[in-house]
Amino acid sequence: MEVPPNHIMISLDVVSLFPSVPRKLALNIIKESWHEIQRHTTIGRDLFVEVVSFCLETTHFVFKGQNYIQKDGLPMGSPLSPVMADVVMNHALTKIMEGMSTSVVGLTKYVDDIFCLTPREGVENVLSKFNSFHPNLQFTVEVEKNGGIAYLDTYVIREGSRLNTIWYKKPIASDRMMNFFSQHPLQQKVSTAVGFLKRVQRLTTTNHENIKTIVFTRLKMNGYPPGLINTIWNKYSTQQQLHTTTESQNDDTNTTIYKSLTYIPGLSERIRRLLRSSISDLHISFKSNHTVKTLHTILKDRMHTEMQSGVVYCIQCECDKVYVGKTINRLKTRIYNHKYSVKQRLEGKTDQDATALVTHARENGHTFKYEEATILDRCTHGKQLEFLEMLHINLTSSQNVNKKTDTETISNIYSSLLHRMKQEQQSRERERDSFITCISSPDRVHRP
Ligand SMILES: [Zn+2]
Repeated sequence: MEVPPNHIMISLDVVSLFPSVPRKLALNIIKESWHEIQRHTTIGRDLFVEVVSFCLETTHFVFKGQNYIQKDGLPMGSPLSPVMADVVMNHALTKIMEGMSTSVVGLTKYVDDIFCLTPREGVENVLSKFNSFHPNLQFTVEVEKNGGIAYLDTYVIREGSRLNTIWYKKPIASDRMMNFFSQHPLQQKVSTAVGFLKRVQRLTTTNHENIKTIVFTRLKMNGYPPGLINTIWNKYSTQQQLHTTTESQNDDTNTTIYKSLTYIPGLSERIRRLLRSSISDLHISFKSNHTVKTLHTILKDRMHTEMQSGVVYCIQCECDKVYVGKTINRLKTRIYNHKYSVKQRLEGKTDQDATALVTHARENGHTFKYEEATILDRCTHGKQLEFLEMLHINLTSSQNVNKKTDTETISNIYSSLLHRMKQEQQSRERERDSFITCISSPDRVHRP
């Protein structure tokens, strides 16, 4: 692209985008651009607007135990918000550009990040034009410094009348990527390194000799051995189109079955080999259960036990026996059903729910401590939840009231694993008991 004389690069950005997008404006835009939207849906305009409005207005969040409803703007974390933000930004940009009196060229947008060229003396005018579109949508502007400006993951450099880009990272970026010593298959580490190399290459249109330094520095920092970095560089730094061509070739005749397995070094590779030898079109990828999400502190308020769904739970009886159950619904609902069934049985009425809990309560006249129910495991997948329930029934077999038939379908493959888990659990309980004895009667322990 040729840069017109006297023009400079600027970038514009909306101040806190999601909370600033006016809902009313968003819904009006949908109505106005219905002729385009209707091609993608079978429902009518009014119903469509009502559905979107419902999705935007019924989200709530919990902060320090209090429930809040967001009054305006787009809800954070809703899958609808990025789409709506983009729709509003597109509309805003069209309207703003229609009434723009200053020369604006090379306009590029990514959600709310805008890049363009404008005469130096027109910058103030451009900014005020953007800010006059809607009082809620306020923009900030950044002007090029020494012929360069950061935009998304690139740094745009003006060289004469030409624009070039180089790969850019924010000064606060940690430079961290999948570490070479991380517990992942080697293939994934190589892919991460190659992906990084390709990204830097793709975003850099000038100063190519710099790419090698960037790639080598970053990979070394993350523990990659120099030999491997060299191999990756020699093999991939020249092959630009490798990935896209193989992908398009496979498109039509794809009958491959894709499955993922938790990665345990040494074991997972063997399982994959075994499965591949019997199923020809099987593609197995490895995944890690140790993700960033599990490492970080939980920032959201924890949901009350009763309100959680997709759980394996445990309810203790007054006689210290326990009942282990599962529910895909909220625990509160399940407990209500248990209470109701026990009541029905005691009144001599029959009920569908003939769980071991009901039988135990009725036969012994015992009461379960419903309010003290605890959660043993969580899972949103029905079959996996069923398995987890069987696992916990098995682990608590000496003290639960559950029926023997509850664990009948658990495969024998797991028996040695279950045995080991039970032993570990028992030793943990023994340790805990001796600790409690120790702290409750300290002089007895210290006496010779
Ligand atoms: Zn009991």
